[in-house]
Parts: sequence; structure tokens; C-alpha cells
Amino acid sequence: MIARVVVDVPSGQTDRLFDYKIPAEWSHILEKGMRVVVPFGPRSIQGFVVEIIETSTVDKLKEIKDILDVTPVLTEELLKLGDWLTEQTLSYKISAYQVMLPAALKTKVEKKLVCLKPQHLPFLLQPFFEKQSIMSWNEIVETNPSLLKTIKEAVKEGLLEVEYSVKDKGKKQTHRMIECLFSKEQLVSLIDTLPQRAEKQIAIVHYFMNNVGKVPLIRLIELTDSSRSSVKALVDKGILIEKDEEFYRDPFLNEQFEQTKPLPLTEQQQQVTIPILTSIEENVHHTFLLHGVTGSGKTEIYLQVIERALSKGQEAIVLVPEISLTPQMVERFKGRFGSQVAVLHSGLSLGEKYDEWRKIHRKEVRVAVGARSAIFAPFENLGVIIIDEEHEGSYKQEEMPRYHARDVAIFRGQFYHCPVILGSATPSLETFARAKVGRYELLTLGVRVNKGPLPTVDVVDMREELRAGNRSMFSIALFEKMQDRLNKKEQMVLLLNRRGFSTFVMCRDCGFVATCEHCDISFTYHKSNHSLKCHYCGHEERMISTCPSCASEHVRFFGTGTQRVEEELGKVLPEARVIRMDVDTTRRKGAHQKLLKDFGNGKADILLGTQMIAKGLDFPNITLVGVLTADTMLHLPDFRSSERTFQLLTQVSGRAGRHKLPGEVIVQTYTPEHYSIELVKEHDYVSFFQREMFIRKNSGYPPYFHIALINVSHQELPKVIHVTEKITHFIKEQLSNEANVLGPVASPVARIKDRYRYQCMIKYKNEPALGKILREIQQHYSREVSQGELLISIDMNPQMFM
Ligand code: ADP
Ligand code: ZN
Ligand code: ZN
Repeated sequence: MIARVVVDVPSGQTDRLFDYKIPAEWSHILEKGMRVVVPFGPRSIQGFVVEIIETSTVDKLKEIKDILDVTPVLTEELLKLGDWLTEQTLSYKISAYQVMLPAALKTKVEKKLVCLKPQHLPFLLQPFFEKQSIMSWNEIVETNPSLLKTIKEAVKEGLLEVEYSVKDKGKKQTHRMIECLFSKEQLVSLIDTLPQRAEKQIAIVHYFMNNVGKVPLIRLIELTDSSRSSVKALVDKGILIEKDEEFYRDPFLNEQFEQTKPLPLTEQQQQVTIPILTSIEENVHHTFLLHGVTGSGKTEIYLQVIERALSKGQEAIVLVPEISLTPQMVERFKGRFGSQVAVLHSGLSLGEKYDEWRKIHRKEVRVAVGARSAIFAPFENLGVIIIDEEHEGSYKQEEMPRYHARDVAIFRGQFYHCPVILGSATPSLETFARAKVGRYELLTLGVRVNKGPLPTVDVVDMREELRAGNRSMFSIALFEKMQDRLNKKEQMVLLLNRRGFSTFVMCRDCGFVATCEHCDISFTYHKSNHSLKCHYCGHEERMISTCPSCASEHVRFFGTGTQRVEEELGKVLPEARVIRMDVDTTRRKGAHQKLLKDFGNGKADILLGTQMIAKGLDFPNITLVGVLTADTMLHLPDFRSSERTFQLLTQVSGRAGRHKLPGEVIVQTYTPEHYSIELVKEHDYVSFFQREMFIRKNSGYPPYFHIALINVSHQELPKVIHVTEKITHFIKEQLSNEANVLGPVASPVARIKDRYRYQCMIKYKNEPALGKILREIQQHYSREVSQGELLISIDMNPQMFM
């Protein structure tokens, strides 16, 4: 027997199947979708078996060296999906397979066999597990290859389990735990021995009078509002015991989730739920667009739909944008479905991600909630797939394979004959257009669950403010409302729309702007360490004190960063407590969640942040949202900039007045007349859609035209131009007259990390040969590309043009 293998060498030249002989002892074991080790040139490398055949056209075949899996890591369906992804995104097959699996499977791991049911173990295997329940795979299999088949069967029957232990970088995670062994009565008398002024220590003892069991030190400090030193004092007195405990890698395991029950749906919710339930019931695939204003109860609908799928014995995938994967969000799913939920997001370590994936693979959970890559959760009986905030840009992967999770969801939905739900208050134009022509089924939720009005939105023209002599970053209207909320003890959110806008450094005398020497991009000034940083390549320099161009000392930074806003708030509203959320304050793991939690617990009046605060927050006490600069994004060289502006403003407005208190929004802008800002006032998505569609039609952009973008980069400028020119020419020659091939043009960021960047853009309606043509281009340059000097990337559905 012969195995056809896709090898782990992502390059154009190795992007095909290689045949290997299957050693006789493995012929009954090896299946499609398993990983193997094969000889490749002088090396041994990993690969995926994608086919098993009887004869090969190649003679002198080499043999497979090792089998890495006992059960396939890629199911039949995922193999098919991989083929489809390869074709759709013009990626290498190996990249398409790997994106579906946790990265831990790629690294060198130690393979172990864990015995789950010693009493039922086949006779032949028993000696190995007499004294221990875990054995090294190699120790058993390498010395007894004949046992493989028995092992495989035992794994299938659930008697044994294969475990890959990933050596996470760094040491094991431990928690310092605090415990008290005294009874409540004993504590009562102990308290009297403590000095009266040791209030914190007394508070801690009180905690243990009311709670039994261990508690993490950090949590204890938080709950009793005490400090490490007070805890230590009690440990020293022998009242408390401290010890380090290894902490399981599930990041949400330590959170307590209160069980929730389905809410009786409102009539509006019921109406849109019926067709989805029918689709589940009848096993018919439909793609639904659930278009519902913020707070209209979409999430509750997701929960009830999932419940139906689970009750049929099926599984569910829920995608939410990375940044919305807050404890609040996770809580809603874990609260309803408890330990049946796995959570996958990029904040997890390699090992944690692998743990969550394994729970799905072993069918220990039936709901996967996660960011983009969770769409590949290896379920085999999907009942529903949900994509919340479907318009989010992060659902598109910006490296090979350049897939969009929405397309993958629909592929899988078709395969499993189950519904796909795309939910949003501001659907992407493409999606809404498809719903309008009936390719998706449109379901609308027009009002909020609490019947509360959407917040009132006022647009403030900042040019007027300037004319009236107000040079502050806060308009009079916003400032007055902030003061008002402080008096009323209500909370506010301030959004600094920073995309395409940062604190750059300029010489006031000659206009010199400090730029990165490797990229054509201006430096961003970082106040915390007084440095200049390039956000494209990470290059960092000390802040300059004199102008390199004219030696003037009038070098200043311009623009508004969150730090500047925070300082300004400190001056004009000194009594306000501010939580700042941006890349700097959320870099540490868990920091994002902690800041939100603090805000939710009322530890601050103002939540100030960048885009990352616009989504998913559901705090009852927020009654004011201020957008400091609404239009910074409008001027980016990207045809979606109006759409993104409208989406962001609508999203952030939705944070206000979600519960009993009514909400207000102030949008500050220099272009109040722009329709993407004006229509936010009316909460009028449909009018926005119509306006924007008209523009897209006239300028030949999606959804009227498809776009493919080819990016070329090289260290030498003439080479980049030459290659891009040839490519453009080649494409032009072969496509129909209806297609519009633009190029070569310099990319908006024309140089990154010393590489020059050029683009060719193809706008087209129907070009069946395009895929083949682009493949030819890839092939033609594959040698140069694999040498690493030339880079050519092709994106069949670009979301970014920088
Ligand atoms: P969305 O996801 O559309 O923003 P949510 O599902 O978060 O809306 O609902 C908004 C609020 O209304 C939440 O606090 C939720 O618990 C509540 N809610 C949703 N559906 C119902 C219902 N049928 N009855 C009562 N409250 C509901
Ligand atoms: Zn100067
Ligand atoms: Zn740079």
C-alpha cells in the first residue's frame, strides 16, 4: 500500500503530493488525515496522509518512518475543506491543513499513552500499565511495533489515550493559595488576639469565618481589599497556610459561572428564531443574516438555537471577535452550557489552545466559542454555526491561507446541512447585499429587548469649536455632559479612534517629521519610555531633542494618544477616576479582562480607550459615550473606510443606555456632513447601505465587483517595479475586457523593513480563468520566492490595502 503525503514544506515547489510506501505492520493502522514522518531529501519531516492507494507511478519509493497519530487529526470533512481552501485562497495545501490545527501539533512534542481503564485493558498491554498509568509512546511502540494495532483499538474503545505533552515556554503556572484550618468558633476567639488597628487582618479573618476552603491569594486580597503584607502577617502567626498549587490551563476554569436558564423570548425574538429552529430540525442548510440593533437580544437567540442543536445530539460553533471574548461573553455561554463549552482565543498559550482543541477532538465538549480559527473546530456533527459581529475585519486571515471565516462557515454548514447565522447591527455591505437578493435569509430585530430607545446621538463640529476659541480636545457639549455624569455618578466611555492617526513627531521650524529608516512611515511617540517607535517593524529609537534637519530645538509631538487624553482629563476633571485601555495597558495577559471588570465594578467613572472598547461591553451604568475624533479613519486609502467608520460609531453608540437609564452619544468630528457620520445620528443602517452601495457601484468595488490584490516586495526598487509590471501585463492580456487591472502602483505604505512594496489590483465580475492565471504567476516565480528575496502574495478578497 502507498500513502500520498502532503509534506510540511510550505513552498510552491513542494506543493504537491508525494508517494511513500507503507510498512507492512502499519498497513491496517494508517488512515487518511493522520500525520506521519517521512524521509525528504536528507531530512525527516512531518506530513499529512491524504490518500491511500495501491500502486504508484513512481518507482523506488521510500518508506514512511513514523506515524504520529492513532486517530486522524483531520477528518474527511476537514481534508475536503483543506482542498477547497487551497483552491479558493490560492494557498499551499500544507498551509491550509495547518491552519485547521492547533500550533502545538506542529512543534516537537512528547507522545504518551495514558491508561484510562486498566481493568479492561487487553492482555497484551497490561504489563506496561501495571505500575503506572502513563507510559512513553516510544518506549512501548519502538520496542514492540507489533502492538500498534492493539493500541489503536484500545484507543478507539476509550481504554487508552494518546497525549501530546507540549512543553510550554516558561515554567508551570502556579497559583499561591491561602487556606485556613481553624473553625469559625476558633476564629472568633482568635480575632480578639489581633491588634485593633490591624483592620485588614481582621477583614481577612472575617472572610474565612464566612467561607470555607482554599482561595487564591490574589482573589483574597481583592475580596477583602487587603494587601499581601496583611496576609503574610496572618501566615506568620500561624492562622493561615499558604502553598503553591499548579493551576490547570483552562483560563476560565477558576471563574464561577452561575447557571442561567433560557429567557422567555420576546415576540420579535420568537419570530426570527422560528426559521432557524426549523432549519436545524429539518437538517437543511440556510445562511441567515440576523440584523439586529445593539441590545436587541441576538445573543439570547444564539443560546436558544444552540440548545436546540445540542438536544438533537449535535454541536455548535460560535465565533466572536477576539476583542469581544471578554469574561462577560464567555460567562453567557458557560453559564448556559457549563462544561460543554470550549473557549479558543489567541490569548491562550500553545498548550492551553491545544487543551481546548483536544476537548473538542475527543468530543468532551459540544460548543466551541472562539475567535477566527475556532471555525475549524473538529466537530463531526455540527448543528449550527454562528458568527457574531459578522462585519468584523478580524474574521479574515491576513496570511496564507487568506481565508474569511464566513466562507469557511458556509462551506461547513453546507457539508453538515445545518444553518449558519451571521449576526450584526451593522452587517458588511457584501452580506447585506446578499441578503437583499435572497442568497441569505434576512431576519431583522428592529428594537431593543427593553424597548428602550436607542441613544440620542449629537454630532459636534470641531471646526466650530475652534472658531469659538475652544482649543481643548473636548467640545463644550461633551465636557458639560461629562461633568453632569460625574455628578450623577453614572459611567461614561470615551473612544479615541486611533486608526490611521497617531502621535507623530515634527519640527515646528522646518516641518521635518521623524520617520523609520526601514519603512516609509512616521514614528509614533511613546511617552512611557520617551521613545520613538515604528509600528510596522518594531524599530525603536530615543526621542530626539533637536531636529536632525535644521538643528532647531522646537521638536514636538502632535496628535492625540490615549495618554494625552488621560492627562488632559486629569487637568479638566481631576475628580474623575479613569481607566485607560489601549495596546499599552492591555499587553499583559488578562489585563484587558481585569480593566473591564474593574470598570464593571464601578472602580472608575470613565473608560477611555481605542477601538478595543467599542464592542461587547454591557454595563448598565454607562449613559454617555463620547467619540473624540470620529473621522480619522475616513481618510485612509481604503474603499471600506466609510463603512468602517459607520460601523465603529454605531457599535460604540450601542454601549450607552443598554438598561434602564437612557443613553447619550456625542460624536466630535471635522467632517459632520459626511454621510457615514450623519446617518449614525438616525441609527439608519439601511440608508447608509443604500448610499454606500451607490458609491461602490460607481467606482467598481465590492459587492458589485470582486477584487484580487497582488502584493510584490523586494529590497530593490527597480526589481519590484519590473516584476509587478510583468505580472500586471500578463494578467491584462488574459482577462476579458470587463476586468479592470490596475498597476503597478506603490502600496500605501511603500516600504516596510527595507523592502519596497508594489501592488496590482484586479477588479472583475466573472473571470473563470483568473484562478489558473494567478497560479501560473505563483509557479513562475516560485524559485525566486523560495529563495526569499522576492515576495509575492495574492489575496482573493483583500480587507486591507496597506
Ligand atoms: P445583543 O446581542 O443583540 O446586543 P443581548 O442578547 O446582549 O443583545 O441582549 C441585551 C440584553 O437584553 C441582555 O442583558 C440580555 O440578557 C437581555 N435579554 C435578551 N433577551 C431577553 C428576553 N427575551 N427577556 C429578557 N431579557 C432579555
Ligand atoms: Zn527642523
Ligand atoms: Zn519601521
